[in-house]
Amino acid sequence: MYLLEPMYEKYSLETMNQVASKAMISLGQDNFTDVIYNLSASDDVCIRIYDGNTDIMAGNYGSPLYQMKYDEINQLFKLTKENNNEFVQKTVLKQEAGQADITKSILLSRIGENDGKPALIMVYTRLSPMNATLQTLRVQLFYIGIMLIVAMLILTYVMNKHIAIPLININEEAKDISDGEYDIDEKTNQYLEAQELNETLLQASNDIQKAEQAKRDLIANVSHDLRTPLTMIKGYGEMMLDLPDEKTDENIQVIIDEAQRLSYLVNDLLDLSKLQENKIELDLVTFDLSSMILEQLKKYNVYEVQDGFEINQTIEPNLMVQGDLKRLEQVFNNFMSNAINYCGTHKKVDVHVYKHNDHVRVEVKDYGIGIPKDKQKDIWDRYYKLDKTHVRALNSSGIGLAIAKEILELHKAVYGVESEENEGSVFYFGLPLIIEDQGI
Ligand code: ADP
Repeated sequence: MYLLEPMYEKYSLETMNQVASKAMISLGQDNFTDVIYNLSASDDVCIRIYDGNTDIMAGNYGSPLYQMKYDEINQLFKLTKENNNEFVQKTVLKQEAGQADITKSILLSRIGENDGKPALIMVYTRLSPMNATLQTLRVQLFYIGIMLIVAMLILTYVMNKHIAIPLININEEAKDISDGEYDIDEKTNQYLEAQELNETLLQASNDIQKAEQAKRDLIANVSHDLRTPLTMIKGYGEMMLDLPDEKTDENIQVIIDEAQRLSYLVNDLLDLSKLQENKIELDLVTFDLSSMILEQLKKYNVYEVQDGFEINQTIEPNLMVQGDLKRLEQVFNNFMSNAINYCGTHKKVDVHVYKHNDHVRVEVKDYGIGIPKDKQKDIWDRYYKLDKTHVRALNSSGIGLAIAKEILELHKAVYGVESEENEGSVFYFGLPLIIEDQGI
């Protein structure tokens, strides 16, 4: 409020300055008088220009500028000259006793040039009293202030309801999660970000619950798989101790086989945890994948000879790839043992190795029980078993595919399964074909 009056004065003075500048520029021009009249009319000022001969006046005829005598003008001319050709004179015209309301006038004078002669340009204005205006503004500001306070209260209420309270609730729920309580309410009617935050928390809570469940399953499965061979070992050992006749080679072989199974399980678990923690580095070499598969297939001859399996091989020779030989053997053997385990009564397995675009593809196909479409993703998870009661025919820890997945991902290989229930499955992986430089 207190700034209003000086601001008004400053603004008026600036306008007068502009008027004086424009008048100075138009001095001596043909349209000089028009310019002066227009200026005085549009900016509500009074202008007088005097160069000794010419005396032009424009604007508000009641202003004291018209009554100025020539000796007063000469006096003003001198003062202006002494003040670097510009002089401002403010006069209080009227102030009622005890009242702040004042009427002020401003006279601005500058020296210009008219036809080579110095001319005094005088601009005069009267400032209107501000009190009435201030009073009106005060009332208006009071109402505006009240409206702003009400708007702020409404805004605070809305923000509190839709932002602060949901955030406090989400925070409470996040604390509950860390205390092991995973039940999160699905909330709607919140502002978008709070809703998204709530959904993220819900998702995180679900993921943690899944991970917890997987951990429990893993412990249950591992304990079960450890207990079975241990029970066998203990049982056979006790039996042989009690009944000397039972100390046969076959029974000793059972103990060795079960100990071997235990060792596979423990090794596989260690392997998987190392792979998942990225603690295993691949030993990359360029090798002939066709020869590697042929070599591995030799050990499956026994299934053909003893168990009546038919293992067909279609293997393109000399397909070079880059990878970790031992790890890729592990993957292939896992595919093979699964094919033999899950082939059902169709004891037939096809192994196909071929060039496919710029890749080498290895496929192991069986004609067994197959895998339902919705489970084909899950089987690559640690310890996922479709048939929980399945008794394994081969040494298998139940985490073979999880290990295969980690190895293939480390190789950035393409891999997957195509399967139809009761028709069989094709497990495959593909690696870029390496074309060796033949030399000249
Ligand atoms: P395991 O065979 O020891 O149970 P894997 O990790 O090798 O463990 O396989 C995970 C699961 O995927 C198996 O329990 C089985 O349900 C399913 N599976 C794997 N290979 C096949 C296959 N060739 N045919 C049908 N199901 C399969």
